[in-house]
Amino acid sequence: MKKPRTAVRSCHQKQASGHEGREKQVLSSSQVKPSTPDGTMPKFPEAPAGLARRQKEVVLRDPVSPYHLFRDTAEVTVFRENLLSWYDREKRDLPWRRRAEGEVDPDRRAYAVWVSEVMLQQTQVATVIDYYTRWMQKWPTLQDLASASLEEVNQLWAGLGYYSRGRRLQEGAQKVVEELGGHVPHTAETLQKLLPGVGRYTAGAIASIAFGQATGVVDGNVVRVLCRVRAIGADSGSTFVSQQLWSLAQQLVDPARPGDFNQAAMELGATVCTPQHPRCSQCPVQSMCRAHQRVEREQLVASQSLPGSPDVEECAPSTGQCQLCAPPTEPWDQTLGVANFPRKASRRPPREECSATCVLEQPRALGGARILLVQRPKSGLLAGLWEFPSVTAEPSGQCQREALLRELQSWAGPLPATHLQHLGQVAHTFSHIKLTYQVYGLALEGQIPVTITPPGARWLTREEFHTAAVSTAMKKVFRVYEGQRPGTCKGSKRSQVSAPSTQRKPSPGQQVLDSFFRPHHPTDVSSLNSMAQ
Ligand code: SF4
Ligand SMILES: [Zn+2]
Repeated sequence: MKKPRTAVRSCHQKQASGHEGREKQVLSSSQVKPSTPDGTMPKFPEAPAGLARRQKEVVLRDPVSPYHLFRDTAEVTVFRENLLSWYDREKRDLPWRRRAEGEVDPDRRAYAVWVSEVMLQQTQVATVIDYYTRWMQKWPTLQDLASASLEEVNQLWAGLGYYSRGRRLQEGAQKVVEELGGHVPHTAETLQKLLPGVGRYTAGAIASIAFGQATGVVDGNVVRVLCRVRAIGADSGSTFVSQQLWSLAQQLVDPARPGDFNQAAMELGATVCTPQHPRCSQCPVQSMCRAHQRVEREQLVASQSLPGSPDVEECAPSTGQCQLCAPPTEPWDQTLGVANFPRKASRRPPREECSATCVLEQPRALGGARILLVQRPKSGLLAGLWEFPSVTAEPSGQCQREALLRELQSWAGPLPATHLQHLGQVAHTFSHIKLTYQVYGLALEGQIPVTITPPGARWLTREEFHTAAVSTAMKKVFRVYEGQRPGTCKGSKRSQVSAPSTQRKPSPGQQVLDSFFRPHHPTDVSSLNSMAQ
């Protein structure tokens, strides 16, 4: 009755590796080069241990024009002052800020920052607020989180996406409690070294905000701000540009208020220097923004038909092509304005994969209708979450239906094959995979109730399903089932609109696909597309 889930697992394992690598919208690179005593940035960042020779060669080939740097203490000081006074006036009132500012215990303060920073990776502030509030109510201290189960963590995290974040947060809490005497490491270096799931960005954020360490941070917002302020048009995802950005962040961070400074830089990127519609007229650092200066110069040149303005500084590398300017193959785009910065090498489109999944329901089970959920493996993507029985499938695989039936029977015993209906499809896009689920339903009407529940399986009521640790993709699958199953209001309505006179014509691809499903039930194909959250 138990089942190997090799096919499905291999599919998700492929996703897992990509997820781990993409979870943070932060740049990975080598160690931060400390700024020089006068606050200016050395021309070249220091190479990390073990890479010194190779990077020295890179440095020699990659001169950086002073145009992209902050050259004196006065400029750095003005930048800090302008940004911080703006932040003091405009900062958003967010629950993690309130909690961290009012907390005198350093470990509790670090925990409050840590949770928020992990949740905010790849997730919008508006979405995080509710999750953060519920999390801190349930586990107000590291000790509370350390004693929670993975099931509880997944349950609270359900819908937030990138589930390994929650698991690693809990592993980190356990490590602090069990191995570090309940005390969170105080520096960015030790945080990154000792805590699972804490990378360079998160370590810097915790160290600066909770412990006041003067260490800069670079996330997606800071990349945008710095690339615009210093007109960095080279690929912001490259190692070389990443090193320069971390060095700039380290140079700029205010030693008197490092946590506020880092939050201010991120806040500026999130609320003013936004990707598509930056509000330069309200920007506190506009006077020193090279992207803004470049826009003004381009406008002047266009309006006066002049070859250029001598008043505005331009990049002038001493030798060859500047490694921080956009390559000659990507000229200035007048329509983009300051959004010419930053530039990123175009990402490959997500890989397409297919899975077949089935909602198996016992409408007349004891105590009300129940649906079968099975638990994913304890490691890898969506570790420990619950899902409908699934198999990987070729988009037009003739064996899909049979494979799915075998999967179902491995959990629930013999089943009436003719009741297995194809209901539609759901597309769910992860960071680098577009996974299309072929959705099936099988309702055991008039059957002897299935009472077996092997380890790793649960028969849940609808209410239990909606509060269980299930992914957003599975909730989409269930919506297709609810909309299509016979006997439901929605299903009945759908049947009416599917009458020949009004039925939508299925796509050619779907016609081919449906021809493989037996018995054939003409259905309206639901397709829900969205990014994983
Ligand atoms: S002036 Fe505009 S482009 Fe420059 S940092 Fe401010 S908002 Fe961003
Ligand atoms: Zn340049």
